[in-house]
Amino acid sequence: MQSRIQIVQGDITTISVDAIVNAANPSLLGGGGVDGAIHRAAGPALLAACKKVRQQQGECAPGHAVITEAGDLPAKAVVHTVGPVWRGGEAQEERLLQDAYRNSLQLVTDNGYRSVAFPAISTGIYGYPRAAAALIAFNTVSDYLTTHSLPEQVYFVCYDDENTRLYQRLLAQHA
Ligand code: ADP
Repeated sequence: MQSRIQIVQGDITTISVDAIVNAANPSLLGGGGVDGAIHRAAGPALLAACKKVRQQQGECAPGHAVITEAGDLPAKAVVHTVGPVWRGGEAQEERLLQDAYRNSLQLVTDNGYRSVAFPAISTGIYGYPRAAAALIAFNTVSDYLTTHSLPEQVYFVCYDDENTRLYQRLLAQHA
């Protein structure tokens, strides 16, 4: 099972996979962090696609996910999911983070995509403690893969050394 999970350090906008996941905000209209990087790299087609989804269904609630085209990115699609803002741990943050990963994976499966890359959702501006977030990400994805044949490959794309170490330790423990 663990061979279906890989850790990569770098910029998610450069990864050639079927789908990349965006740690979006509820507006779906772009923001800072990885969201801003994805919109800058994807260009106006992605923003137009997000505006269309926004018009059709309004804001995206925490834990939910939507899928769009990927504009100029090497990926074929972008899954936009909204992670929880960390409020101390008593505001359903763990369940919402699990939902964000699971609902993103479900869209990847439903669209027949074979590979997906995730950033460390909620661990930047949203302030989720990194070790706890990495454990939830890893366990939620591992559990999902035991019952689904798609995606075949999941990449955790870590932007910094700390997240890379955390994810590599989890992968080594599960090997
Ligand atoms: P959130 O609002 O969900 O916390 P952020 O974008 O602020 O989202 O941060 C989520 C994670 O994405 C952080 O760990 C941050 O270091 C990382 N990140 C920022 N830019 C990139 C990028 N270009 N590729 C991959 N990860 C990134």
